Amino acid sequence: MRRSLLTVEDLSVRFQTEGGVVQAVTGLSFELQRGRTLAVVGESGSGKSATGLALLGLHNRQRTEVTGRVEFDGTDLVPLDERAVSAFRGARIAMVFQDALTALSPYHTVERQLTDGYRRRTGAGRQQARARAVEMLNRVGIPDPARRVAEYPHEFSGGMRQRVMIAMALMGEPDLVIADEPTTALDVTVQAQILDLLADLQAESQLAILLITHDLGVVSGVAHDVMVMYGGRCVEYGPTADVLAAPEHPYTAGLLRSVPTLHGDADAELLAIPGSPPNLLDPPPGCAFHPRCDARLRVAGDRCATTVPELTALPLPDASVRRLRACHLLLERSTAS
Ligand code: SF4
Repeated sequence: MRRSLLTVEDLSVRFQTEGGVVQAVTGLSFELQRGRTLAVVGESGSGKSATGLALLGLHNRQRTEVTGRVEFDGTDLVPLDERAVSAFRGARIAMVFQDALTALSPYHTVERQLTDGYRRRTGAGRQQARARAVEMLNRVGIPDPARRVAEYPHEFSGGMRQRVMIAMALMGEPDLVIADEPTTALDVTVQAQILDLLADLQAESQLAILLITHDLGVVSGVAHDVMVMYGGRCVEYGPTADVLAAPEHPYTAGLLRSVPTLHGDADAELLAIPGSPPNLLDPPPGCAFHPRCDARLRVAGDRCATTVPELTALPLPDASVRRLRACHLLLERSTAS
């Protein structure tokens, strides 16, 4: 089997706030290979964005403690200092953020923003860097790139700005792109175009993509695998098509019921999951989802409220398919069968 480009083992992230210590991520493990997309899905506060920032070493180092292992192409990034991690960032690992208007500087032309980091890293001259910027804008579908490279971000539409961000991410020919809610600010048609673009770029260059999103609806057809997070932990993991067709965890099932496009029935009622995500300053004991979970009534005793369920592999006839879930009900069911 091919070695994974990214191997994350037992990653935990906690940070100090004025209100106390937030345990944002607990014991996260996953792998990502070249040419594959893993979607990390969860509501706000699930730990998905904290995971992305920790992978890139972009967390506040004074206030944040990151433990575990983040092995990127054979190098563990966790013990590295900011200077050493920054050698990977922007070159071999790039990030695409949700809001291009905030992420791009309004004061500089697109050319300057695409080429500054590239020139620093590679020593390229201005003409050479400009030619590459034009080539990247062309590659992400910006019309008339030789002219538009001289424009400012506010002169682009929302969808085009997001393409500029992707072009910026691609300047260093990264192996891994971490895309944090890359389409959330866009309307549905443009969302689809951006996700298609990422898929095309992946097919061309075997990019590995970690797609962070709150919207389970966007992962279908885009991500090979999906990891659902709740309360800073992985609660379900598996091939996207399998998870969407038959979610194993009550939280994943709840997320799916709140997504309009997957079922295709325009009259179907959309059901938001009642309640709110846990406060990670003071998380509930046991399964973090228990205050919102109807299925807990079918679990013997009060285990849901007292004991954190372990993430366990689903026994499947095809040993090459890996599905995991963390739920007492499902664990009871598989031990009984
Ligand atoms: Fe619901 Fe209990 Fe499963 Fe948590 S462990 S998802 S509360 S049934």
